[in-house]
Amino acid sequence: MLSVNKDNKTRLQSRQGLALMADCTDAAMMITDTRSRLVQHNESFSRLFGWAFEEVQGKDILQLLAPQASTGFFAAMRSELLAGRSVTVDKLLTGKTGQRYWVNLVCNPVMDEAGAWQYTVSVLLDITKTKMHEILNKRVLEAMARDLPLIEVLNMVCEEVERIAPDISATILQVDDQDQLHPLASPSLPLSYSSQLDGLPIGPAVGSCGAAAWHKKEVLVKDIANDPFWADYKHLILPLGYTSCWSTPILDKDDKVLGTFAFYYRENTPQVASDFHRQLVQTCIDLCALALEREQNRLRIRRLSFYDALTGLPNRSLLQTQVDQLLLSSQREQKMVAILFINLDRFKQINESLGYLAGDKLLCLVAERLKEHVRRSGIAGRLSGDEFVVLLSESNSEKINPLIERLLATLGQPFNFGGTWMDVSACIGAAIYPQDGHNMQTLLHRADLAMQQAKKIGQGRFSFFSSEMNRLAQERLMLETTLRQALRDNDGALHLHYQPQVNMKTGVLYGVEALARWQHPVLGGISPVRFISLAEECGLIGKLGQWVLAEACSQLKQWRAKGLDVPSVSVNMSPLNFHSQDLPDRIAEILDKNGLTPASLTLELTESILLDPDPATMKTIEMVHAAGVRLSMDDFGSGYSSLSYLRRLPITELKLDRSFVADLESDETARALSAAILGIGNSLNLTVVAEGVETIAQSETLCEQGYPVVQGYLFSKPLAPTELEQWLRVPPFKRGF
Ligand code: C2E
Ligand code: MG
Ligand code: MG
Repeated sequence: MLSVNKDNKTRLQSRQGLALMADCTDAAMMITDTRSRLVQHNESFSRLFGWAFEEVQGKDILQLLAPQASTGFFAAMRSELLAGRSVTVDKLLTGKTGQRYWVNLVCNPVMDEAGAWQYTVSVLLDITKTKMHEILNKRVLEAMARDLPLIEVLNMVCEEVERIAPDISATILQVDDQDQLHPLASPSLPLSYSSQLDGLPIGPAVGSCGAAAWHKKEVLVKDIANDPFWADYKHLILPLGYTSCWSTPILDKDDKVLGTFAFYYRENTPQVASDFHRQLVQTCIDLCALALEREQNRLRIRRLSFYDALTGLPNRSLLQTQVDQLLLSSQREQKMVAILFINLDRFKQINESLGYLAGDKLLCLVAERLKEHVRRSGIAGRLSGDEFVVLLSESNSEKINPLIERLLATLGQPFNFGGTWMDVSACIGAAIYPQDGHNMQTLLHRADLAMQQAKKIGQGRFSFFSSEMNRLAQERLMLETTLRQALRDNDGALHLHYQPQVNMKTGVLYGVEALARWQHPVLGGISPVRFISLAEECGLIGKLGQWVLAEACSQLKQWRAKGLDVPSVSVNMSPLNFHSQDLPDRIAEILDKNGLTPASLTLELTESILLDPDPATMKTIEMVHAAGVRLSMDDFGSGYSSLSYLRRLPITELKLDRSFVADLESDETARALSAAILGIGNSLNLTVVAEGVETIAQSETLCEQGYPVVQGYLFSKPLAPTELEQWLRVPPFKRGF
């Protein structure tokens, strides 16, 4: 507190020396009365805040300097001064132009003789730079210490900057390893703007930020509307009212660009790149570099602790988390999960003979294949050495078998070692959730045991942990091998039976349907439903289809050579058969070889063909049709049954599904449907064949409804070629017509 005597006023006016001293100091000084009205200030005050004495004399200067301060703040200050105590406070003050300063304010009350508060002498020190550092550093470092996400920390930087400098909008963009920009923080700019910058490559003239990152130098564009740097982007920013943009690259300690920090200015802002803003930018880019580098380190640590450094696959820790999640979701969706333990065959020898570098290379190649294999529906990881793990989630166990087989086949493909090809195989052990265990540890252990089991059988083998699954899998594998042999040897194990299709009115043969039969050397006759789906799953269906076509056509030729009148043969085709675009050529060859016209052959398709996403399918169907081969829709009404496809597919025949025929006698609806399907067929000019006719009653109903062609046990079972010859020799009237 200043203690003064009677002539305070005189002293204030007379002490020239003191005034000179006051004017020459950098500290702003002012004298105010008890209602904060300005009585006197020094030169420095004008320099700092921009007001001339005449402009502010007698005005409530505290209100002018701190318009945002609360009434409580002023009241507290007054009561201190009133009590004769000085007040020291750091405050954000606003100058004449609206610019803000952090000021250290020391107010000393001057008392009269009676001890009453008369004036206040205040010294105001500009501490903007220090304070800015202090506040930004404190807040940002605190946020980082609390492990707040990067985006939050950087938004905080922008918001703090905008609080200190309300005339600008701050943005922070990241520059990734591919030199593309990604917005990280821009709290005052609309998302619709910043999202447009996402993925933009940096370049010598890509706005202020793209250019700053490219040149590694600050780029100040004062007139966005006319600057070539902004030519391609100004339409995005000008409507938002921003006219200048100053961007500074954020560099790491090795001078690599991590991002950019930019100020956007609105029209008529006189502060573009002022000293104050420069100080602000410097503080911010240091902090941003710190936050960005820290984030990079964090990601690197995460990668090291969760991913295998050699192959980049998830390691055991990450797998653990992923398995936990997968098991949880599979439990919810009632799915099963297969944990496959994969171990390369002869890896030790490869390592020893070719060296560890080659071994590492092989592990990376294997990892690549596994990753590619599970891309859509699984997880692949590496445990250690040549031990890999694959997780597959499936709705039922039958789907898992073919997946494992495909995986084995993938790993069995030769690997390219800088030009030379190397054959490598692997053994796979599988444990299935939920039946073999409920957690990763148990499942992995059991998969490992199964893998060791597979190793005992031989290279490139797989084994399930559960004996039942194992039995099924081994049986399937055995079936597959035998089917492959049967197709290769063509020794009669695979053969065709033919079921007559007859004219309803006359009993005359309309055609025959070729049905595949397989006599397994050990298991005996196996249903086509089973071996056809096996062939589809293990990639044999193409060969099987070709074989049936060739065999059926050759048989037709032989019958005709014997003078038997078999008008045509129908062959069942799986949708997969239409994936091979050479099917039309192969058919043409076969017909040609047997001297048959295309009309002698009918291909039976099922409705599932419409669900086939392969675009080649439709094309092949069209080509076959164009060649004059007839197409028939088999099992009509049992599946997809959308009538619209009848227009899309070039078919000439419909086969009423046998389930309708079976219910004809008992079910009114089945009768109505069979009549309706015949109606549809007739109106589309298609021949409708009723199949699975077993009883006279069914036959009579179909006859009444007007079905032209029938097929079923009532007329004949599927027959071996010689049996069919005998059947044909029986005149129709003797067969019940
Ligand atoms: P599909 O094409 O609908 O063949 C008719 C099936 O019904 C045949 O069974 C036939 O034996 C049976 N059947 C015929 N008349 C009657 C009857 O009166 N009552 C009953 N209950 N059944 C009758 P199959 O031979 O077991 O063939 C089953 C399915 O396997 C066929 O159904 C067809 O989709 C498929 N298939 C057969 N051979 C081949 C082939 O060479 N290639 C393809 N892709 N699929 C084939
Ligand atoms: Mg059929
Ligand atoms: Mg059928």
